[in-house]
Amino acid sequence: MANVQLFDSHMYTEVIRQYEEVAELINLDPNIRERLKHPQRALIVTFPFRRDEYEEVETVVGYRVQHVLSMGPTKGGIRYAPDVNLGEVTALSILMSWKSAIVGLPFGGAKGGVAIDPTSLTRGEKQRVTRRYTAELLPVIGVEKDIPAPDLGTDEQTMAWIMDTYSNFVGSPQPGIVTGKPAALGGSVTRREATGRGAIAVTAQAMDKIHKTYKGSNVVIQGFGNVGRYAALDSYERGAKVIAINDLGGGIINPEGINIPELFKHTAKYHSVAGFEGADVLSENILEVECDVLIPAAVGGVITTSNVNKIRAHVIVEAANSPTTVSADKILKDNNVLVIPDILANAGGVTASYFEWVQNRQNYLWKEKDLYEKLIDTMTSAFEEVWTISQKNKCDLRTAALIKGIKRVAAAKLTRGLFP
Ligand code: GLU
Repeated sequence: MANVQLFDSHMYTEVIRQYEEVAELINLDPNIRERLKHPQRALIVTFPFRRDEYEEVETVVGYRVQHVLSMGPTKGGIRYAPDVNLGEVTALSILMSWKSAIVGLPFGGAKGGVAIDPTSLTRGEKQRVTRRYTAELLPVIGVEKDIPAPDLGTDEQTMAWIMDTYSNFVGSPQPGIVTGKPAALGGSVTRREATGRGAIAVTAQAMDKIHKTYKGSNVVIQGFGNVGRYAALDSYERGAKVIAINDLGGGIINPEGINIPELFKHTAKYHSVAGFEGADVLSENILEVECDVLIPAAVGGVITTSNVNKIRAHVIVEAANSPTTVSADKILKDNNVLVIPDILANAGGVTASYFEWVQNRQNYLWKEKDLYEKLIDTMTSAFEEVWTISQKNKCDLRTAALIKGIKRVAAAKLTRGLFP
């Protein structure tokens, strides 16, 4: 049996715990059950890096993990964070497999990461890290093999550098090597907004199911990065009241609802929600603000057994990856909080990535309107199926989503059979 300790980390243990519970519930074939706990490939790279004002050359560690290669190329983001490690990246690659399967995409899961604090990097430094990391990944990435995208600490510009580096090595432009690119390189506005808007589309649907309306409800959002900001804008456009938001610079609150388009203007200038004139300073913990819908849209592991009972929301939408620990999740269930799990709630990102990749491969760009319609159609159909599974099995939405995702991945593996 393979050594699972190789991937040891808090997040890996959590993801495997969730997986084991559902594997037991659906009586998953024992061979597949063991197999899916391990990524098929995990590449660890180290490379030299010099800062602009360097005294010594640093050695930076990076990873790319591909979980399942049975359904098509692998797909998933790249994160830059100081504490990135093999176990975390592996756990996130496994979540990507379930996520893609839940929305029916022909991808296996992957994830990458570089253990570096992106906030400490100048633009030039970030570019050097990105180009060298890309060069180190050359043996495992490819338009038909493994397609990176943005995640924590990376963005459209990072994707443009990856595309440029890869294209230079290959000798021809390869827009399909990454998704979440700038529009000028074949990316789309829909992809940029997809994770946030997709999350709100399924939230509105979930509210209908529990005989509430999203319009007029009080919403609290943790994080105003690429996910949080479009979740906020979509909520505002639907007539919900976004009453509190925070980011690394601080938090703001306005019980009457924050004017999100104005907040966009403020953050473009000041790079933080802090100091926004149309709201007060938030003095309490954002997760503990009383509201109808709480949207963690920043980092993982923020809802734990130590704060879960202080949460005063009826619905939690996991726009971030893995924001809730397994133990806290069980308490939320006991507290009758409806949780829309990350593998469903934030699947809009990879869904729009899929459309971007298809367009790049066809050299044919669709209209934004069509892209947006396809995105919402995919998300709402997936939600409907997951909801039905949860009703049928009398289980929560995370279990239902995992049932759908794991069954699909397992079916692909079983159908292909063993080689050799
Ligand atoms: N990083 C995003 C996620 O966790 C997007 C992945 C992608 O678009 O490939 O879902």
